[in-house]
Amino acid sequence: KQHMARGLPKQKPIAGVKQVIVVASGKGGVGKSTTAGKQSKTVGILDADVYGPSIPKLMSLKGNPELTDNNLMRPLMNFGIPCMSMGFLVEDVAPIVWRGLMVMSAIEKLLRQVDWGLLDYLVIDMPPGTGDVQLSITQNVPIAGAVIVSTPQDIALLDARRGAEMFRKVNVPVLGIVQNMSVFQCPKCNHQTHIFGADGARALADTLGVQVLGDIPLHLSIREMSDRGQPVVVSSPDSPEAEAYRKVATAV
Ligand code: ADP
Repeated sequence: KQHMARGLPKQKPIAGVKQVIVVASGKGGVGKSTTAGKQSKTVGILDADVYGPSIPKLMSLKGNPELTDNNLMRPLMNFGIPCMSMGFLVEDVAPIVWRGLMVMSAIEKLLRQVDWGLLDYLVIDMPPGTGDVQLSITQNVPIAGAVIVSTPQDIALLDARRGAEMFRKVNVPVLGIVQNMSVFQCPKCNHQTHIFGADGARALADTLGVQVLGDIPLHLSIREMSDRGQPVVVSSPDSPEAEAYRKVATAV
């Protein structure tokens, strides 16, 4: 499904990119990056989580981007997906203690100084929360829509709701909510446990009048494969977990 990019007049499109989708969460650790990494269309991924970039590890990528003749950074590529991340620009172990201004100039660089080639979608993995970085991204580029990732736990949902409200205020359509880690199925006895609650994201989606784009189970292989830099949609495309991520991509 295509979404019309709309935005404020001072927003400038990213060269070569048809549509920008942001993946956001109120809270960290809920699976936002893992979800951003699993969209299966012709996409590029921009990891805007400058404080805790996860895309390099998730996508098994490291190193410095080359510069093009126009002095733009060439994204690093794995699994056919071009990616750009703060993690490619700073030392592995360097503590990222930055003032607001430095963060903003890093974001500006990631938004404007990358040669994406031609993309149908650029998926931006947002930093958690609803601060300056998130706002300035939404004000700088036209965004077709936002996907919110949350666990069904109250504390995550509260933050997810704040995120959704921020997007609405700046006229970014909320495409829906991805409920992550909703159910754990014991691999030995198949018993299902709703560790963070069963359907909190559904309730939030109803409140916001948006759809639930998918339900991703809490699954050992998702964690293991992500840590190994082999996202499940690539390493075990026939698994139910991979299917759950593909459903989300289709729903978006
Ligand atoms: P965020 O981007 O919201 O901070 P991440 O995507 O980095 O969160 O996920 C946090 C951790 O949880 C990562 O180690 C990731 O591999 C793991 N994880 C995410 N989703 C799942 C899931 N559905 N099942 C198991 N582990 C998951």
